[in-house]
Amino acid sequence: MPATSMEQLVSLCKRRGFIFQSADIYGGLQGVYDYGPLGVELKNNLKNAWWRAMIYERDDVEGLDASILTLRQVLKYSGHESTFSDPLCDCRKCKTRMRADHIKDGKCMNCGSTDLTEPRPFNLMFKTNVGPIDDGSNYAYLRPETAQAIFTQFKNVVDSTSRKAPFGIAQIGKSFRNEITPRNFIFRVREFEQMELEFFVKPGEDEKWHEYWKEQRIDWWVRQGLKRENIHVHTIAKEDLAHYSKATYDLEYLFPHGIEELEGIANRQDYDLGNHTKQQNELDLIAHVHENKDSTAKLALFDDEEKKWYAPFVIEPSAGVDRGVLAVMTEAYTEEPLPNGDTRIVLKLKKHLSPVKVAVIPLKRNNEQIVALARQIKDELLKTGIGRVMLEDSGNVGKAYRRHDEIGTPYCVTVDFESIEQTPATVTIRDRDTMQQERIEVSQLADYFKKQFV
Ligand code: ATP
Repeated sequence: MPATSMEQLVSLCKRRGFIFQSADIYGGLQGVYDYGPLGVELKNNLKNAWWRAMIYERDDVEGLDASILTLRQVLKYSGHESTFSDPLCDCRKCKTRMRADHIKDGKCMNCGSTDLTEPRPFNLMFKTNVGPIDDGSNYAYLRPETAQAIFTQFKNVVDSTSRKAPFGIAQIGKSFRNEITPRNFIFRVREFEQMELEFFVKPGEDEKWHEYWKEQRIDWWVRQGLKRENIHVHTIAKEDLAHYSKATYDLEYLFPHGIEELEGIANRQDYDLGNHTKQQNELDLIAHVHENKDSTAKLALFDDEEKKWYAPFVIEPSAGVDRGVLAVMTEAYTEEPLPNGDTRIVLKLKKHLSPVKVAVIPLKRNNEQIVALARQIKDELLKTGIGRVMLEDSGNVGKAYRRHDEIGTPYCVTVDFESIEQTPATVTIRDRDTMQQERIEVSQLADYFKKQFV
């Protein structure tokens, strides 16, 4: 059983400003959420950690930020128009509509009736009108995955960077799916973000790279604070594979509502590049590969050793940002008994993910000298580049500690009377996890924190 309940997380998220229901004041838009002042920081930190690991720490991956509005042909030839659907059943008794693969023992998920319709396909893509005439013929899709633009921009990226396989293109961005039953807070939503890598390799080397990326991605999630034993690797059965996939691993996590998918790692073969190439008005790539001619086709790589064109295979680790946020919060949420009988809530996030890195607290909010020194410390710490440093002048140190424990701030710096009366000036630093306090000279603070946030 997961240690943290969804109610605990939802309550913390609303109370402290991580995540709110979209259009809350009108009753909310179902399956859509907004990230509040702390949520946006946590989410950005998670995305930055992914970008850093994928692009800066490696030498074989380039970035991309493509548009959300997607030309219809792209999703037609990718197979999404015809296959991106979930079979649905309706309950004839209570009229609830549900995904066929979510039904247990043939019973309605709402009322338990067994009087259900046969499963029917339902396309998950959002359509929208483009241009001034809304007669149903000029439409585009909101992308249901970020991956397709990586394939359609493949040639532009290769031509402008001279990349050879193995190499990857990475992207973070919004995706949209008209989920039938959005549920479990931000786990299954209609608007979400994905962090996707398409890693292009020579056919024949794909299985080796598939294993490699599975291990890399588990390691990365562990570095974000997830316990290894809470991550499960699920090998998708052949009959359940997506239309493009030769093999897929799902990395599943022990969420508050159960063990479910956090990230999919698929071997997409040359399905997408091959299909898009076939649709170009130029010569058919596949024919070229087989006939070993020079190719004018768009989405291929030239093998310098074998002197021929080939369509690379693609390994795709595709992670959900929102599910990532939910997972790291689930893991970090802790309720600890205190010696005085109270309980403290503390979010033991990895420091690099914490929305606020250091809170600077003036002991007395109406003492000008104390407040001025606190402000000066805040400005100095900001210059170190460690992330958000906050002046917390609510006027009550105990309350400030409680708030910063709950939002996962690793350190609080308190400026008191001693700080302004003694030379050299000193302040206390309180550690979130141990609650230990130590006194340190103000002049040492910047170096101290730079070491904590390397
Ligand atoms: P599921 O089976 O849970 O519907 P999926 O297999 O359709 O997910 P993929 O198409 O593999 O998901 O998408 C890659 C990742 O994008 C998922 O692992 C997940 O983290 C995220 N994701 C997909 N759909 C949603 C959604 N509706 N809400 C939030 N995140 C999502």
